[in-house]
Amino acid sequence: MAATPAVELAPNVWRIPTFANDLVNTFAFVDDDGQVTLVDSGYRRAPRRILAALEHIGAGPRDVTRIIATHAHNDHIGGLARMRGRTGATVAIHERDAAYVREGKGPVVDRTTLGGRLVRRAPKSAPTEVDEELYDGQVLEFGGGVRVIHTPGHTPGHVALLHEPTGILITGDSIWNMFGRRTWPLKLRCTDIAMTKQTAHVLGELDYKLAAFTHGPEIRDDAREAVRGFLRVKGGAQ
Ligand SMILES: [Zn+2]
Ligand SMILES: [Zn+2]
Repeated sequence: MAATPAVELAPNVWRIPTFANDLVNTFAFVDDDGQVTLVDSGYRRAPRRILAALEHIGAGPRDVTRIIATHAHNDHIGGLARMRGRTGATVAIHERDAAYVREGKGPVVDRTTLGGRLVRRAPKSAPTEVDEELYDGQVLEFGGGVRVIHTPGHTPGHVALLHEPTGILITGDSIWNMFGRRTWPLKLRCTDIAMTKQTAHVLGELDYKLAAFTHGPEIRDDAREAVRGFLRVKGGAQ
């Protein structure tokens, strides 16, 4: 059976799985006037699934006016150039990851690990224009207000997003939730492993009801406690 093209998290807020088993997710916010904002665009081949999911929720490519990227890894911006081309949407990413997108370069990888020294950079994606550079604390005007939470470490410009009207937190890659358990992201993907763990603690202090993950399904019940529990047990610098 085919996977569900889109999962409703709240009225007009959707998770779009772009890979099997909810392993990689895009999010869509639909405004009252029908304009759609996407968060992340998956791997290079994800746009086909994203466009099918949009059709499923009654939106066309031209309804997408804005694409936000949580950070510049290829599982989040691999499909960005194509989605921008198909939709004509503007592209926004935190100011510290913007150059990676424009230049089509992968963010550097933590050199304290052998893998990081060997690989040096995360895989690159096609260069894409960035129209807007985001900053910490900014409240974006879609979906009734989405707050940018700068959580650097995984990449320099990594952000989580808090949808204040519904109490949905999109953790980005600060914390993963694949295969039924919370984990830190792969070390080989982090620019600074220690900083990833340190800044994730911000997510324990925010107020939200549902935790949505770019990797893995959402937590609908006692989400904040689940995140806080993970942070307490798995630590990192406080
Ligand atoms: Zn990542
Ligand atoms: Zn990722």
